[in-house]
Amino acid sequence: MKPLLDVETSPSIARRGLMLVISSPSGAGKSTIARTLLDLDPKFSLSISVTTRKRRPSEIDGVHYHFITVEEFERLRSTDALLEWAEVHGNLYGTPRASAEKAMREGRDMLFDIDWQGARQLQEQAKTDIVSIFILPPSMEELAQRLTRRAEDSKETIAMRLKNACVEIERWRDYEYVVINDDLDRAFSAVLSIVSAERLRRDRRPGLFDFTARLLEEANREAGN
Ligand code: 5GP
Repeated sequence: MKPLLDVETSPSIARRGLMLVISSPSGAGKSTIARTLLDLDPKFSLSISVTTRKRRPSEIDGVHYHFITVEEFERLRSTDALLEWAEVHGNLYGTPRASAEKAMREGRDMLFDIDWQGARQLQEQAKTDIVSIFILPPSMEELAQRLTRRAEDSKETIAMRLKNACVEIERWRDYEYVVINDDLDRAFSAVLSIVSAERLRRDRRPGLFDFTARLLEEANREAGN
C-alpha cells in the first residue's frame, strides 16, 4: 500500500483535530482499516478503550485495549472518566475521557473504533468534530467466514456476534459515510478520501482567517492601496 499523501494545502494553517469514528459489525474489517490508517498517517492516534472483555491471545494490554475488571469499569463510569460507554456482546467497553480530550485540545486527530451506541453518544457531545464512517461487509456469508477465520473466539462467541450483526447493520443510517468492504485496498482508499476531504473543511480550519487576511493585505500592497 502506498504511503499516505498529505493533501493538506498548507500544514501551517491551524486546524481543529477531528474525531474519526469507525463502526461496523464484528468481522467487517474495521480493525484492519483502522490499523492501516494508524500505520500510514502519523496525524492519527488511537483512542484506547477500556473493556471488561477477556484478552484475546494476540492482544496486548495497553495497546489494543486496557483490560479491566467490572469493578474498575464501574468506578470509571461513576467518576465520569468515560466519554462514552456501552455494553457490546455481553461485555463493557468505554472511551477514557482524559486522553481523548487532551488529543483534541492539542489539535491531533483521534480514531475511535467503537460501536453504534458509543458513536451516538459522541455525536451528542461533539457533533462538529466528529466524522463517522460505517463499514459494511459485502455479504453475510463473507462476514461469517471472516469471523471463523479469525479463530480467536469460541463458537458461541462467533454465533452471538453474527446474531448481533443484524442489530448493528440496521444502524447504518446514523453515520455520515458508509463504506462496503468487498476489497480491503478499495475500502481503505475510500476511508482516506473521506479523511482528506474532511480535513479540508472550512469550519475545521480556523487558521484560514489569518491566512486569508494576510493574502488580502498582500493583495492590497501589490495593488498599491
Ligand atoms: P471487540 O470485542 O471485537 O474488540 O469489539 C467489539 C465491539 O466493541 C466492536 O464493535 C468495537 O468497535 C466496540 N468497542 C470497542 N471499544 C469500544 C468503546 O470504547 N466504546 C464502545 N461503545 N464500543 C467499543
